[in-house]
Amino acid sequence: MTDSHPHIVWFRDDLRLSDHPALHAAATSGAPVICLYILDEKSAALKRTMGGATRWWLAQSLRALQASLQAIGGTLVLRRGAAADVIAALAREVDAAHVSWNEIAQAPELMVTDQVTAALADLNVGAHPYHGDLLVPPAAIRTKEGRGLRVFTPFWKRILAMGDPAKPLPTPKKLVPAPEIASDNLSDWKLEPTRPDWAGGLRESWTPGEAKAQQQLRQLLKAAIVGYATNRDRPDREGTSRLSPHVRFGEISPRQVWYAARFAAAEHPQHATDINKFLSEVGWREFSRHLLFDVPDLAERNLQPSFDAFPWRTDRAALRAWQLGQTGYPIVDAGMRELWHSGVMHNRVRMVVASFLVKHLLIDWREGEKWFWDTLVDADAGSNPANWQWVAGSGADAAPYFRVFNPILQGEKFDPDGIYVRRWVPELKDMPSKLIHQPWIASPLELKRAGVTLGTNYPAPIIEHKLGRERALKAYATTRNG
Ligand code: FAD
Repeated sequence: MTDSHPHIVWFRDDLRLSDHPALHAAATSGAPVICLYILDEKSAALKRTMGGATRWWLAQSLRALQASLQAIGGTLVLRRGAAADVIAALAREVDAAHVSWNEIAQAPELMVTDQVTAALADLNVGAHPYHGDLLVPPAAIRTKEGRGLRVFTPFWKRILAMGDPAKPLPTPKKLVPAPEIASDNLSDWKLEPTRPDWAGGLRESWTPGEAKAQQQLRQLLKAAIVGYATNRDRPDREGTSRLSPHVRFGEISPRQVWYAARFAAAEHPQHATDINKFLSEVGWREFSRHLLFDVPDLAERNLQPSFDAFPWRTDRAALRAWQLGQTGYPIVDAGMRELWHSGVMHNRVRMVVASFLVKHLLIDWREGEKWFWDTLVDADAGSNPANWQWVAGSGADAAPYFRVFNPILQGEKFDPDGIYVRRWVPELKDMPSKLIHQPWIASPLELKRAGVTLGTNYPAPIIEHKLGRERALKAYATTRNG
């Protein structure tokens, strides 16, 4: 479809140039290409606004995208408003012939793209959705009753049985430039915090953008993948890809991860177990997204209705202590402080802190989900609530109700030398390893030597483990019987 009328490419959670089906189609059409990103806080369907940490990431990622587009002769136009209004106005303004985008298979986004399609039909402009956000579209994996699968293992087996997805597409070498078009200034969107500027830890920890995403993946598959299946549980080691925010913003596509992993497994069959384990983690992201497709209110509604009557407690002080990393349980506090500083938390520790909130403190999983939503740079509409519900026991393929993680044993098992705790809870840096996960059993002399005064420079546990566990089991029993 060669045309002198511009082709608009609408970027969303796909802030990359490679394996971008919508951009690829526009670039190969030979038409002038206008790349557009819309800050849409207006479309009624998009009820959930981004959290603080993801807004910060978005700003950096848009800058990176602007720079990579410039390198191939393109520019990124920034506009703000309801997507259907913005796209229709721009299409009229530039007399566009086509608009393309990669579909996000989630109810709110699909409602928005329906509005965009209708607005473009009125203008007689072509609307072209592409598939590019998932390995397999949710509609392709259904039970006989037409529902999505609720158990991970059969879900992942189905995906593996479908064979390789379509090959990733290359980065366009050159874009035909479009006439200059007015764009918002990124800084006017105020995505980054100023007063106070709390993003120092994020800047220190991350380089958003496609180039870094590709580098992280290469690095993992080249070296760190050896032992991944075990190391991924160790917060004291650098054993995982750190790809999650890059994946969240589509700086790298699941197909690219799939092919890179498959290639590495073929080259190094001795590491195939580790590589397949890594790929199955990406499968959990896929599973969560498919779940969200079926359950758009996943962040609000218990998947298992028996949880609707769960006796959650309201305890603002305990919730605050948890958020601030002041529970008196070193592994929990380390995780919550890692989150506050760097915008992520190790997966094992996410499970421990989530279990602590929901089970030891009996605070509704939605409170934890909301806090993560605001503070995680990888906060994902599917993975976040799906994992919270998994830990709470209210979700799909959920953890058994009687699994109440013991924060002391979890610390001792997965951070045996206290390296992770020492890093994030410096008050405890001089505690001996055998005591670091339960400083309250240390003798007065041991505490003195380590410079720790419980209740003064590090809190005493806000709840005793055994008591918390028993209370949780009682509460869970009412739900199971209810
Ligand atoms: P790796 O081990 O290298 O995994 C590779 C990729 O697989 C990740 O980048 C991620 O895209 C995906 N992945 C791995 N584990 C999971 C999982 N359990 N569920 C879904 N996808 C997974 N992950 C998010 O991306 N966003 C979230 O909002 C999120 N919230 C979570 C909340 C809780 C309570 C828990 C227990 C887990 C949550 N996770 C979430 C999953 C997981 O903790 C992170 O994906 C992982 O820690 C990211 O580190 P990595 O990229 O080094 O992971």
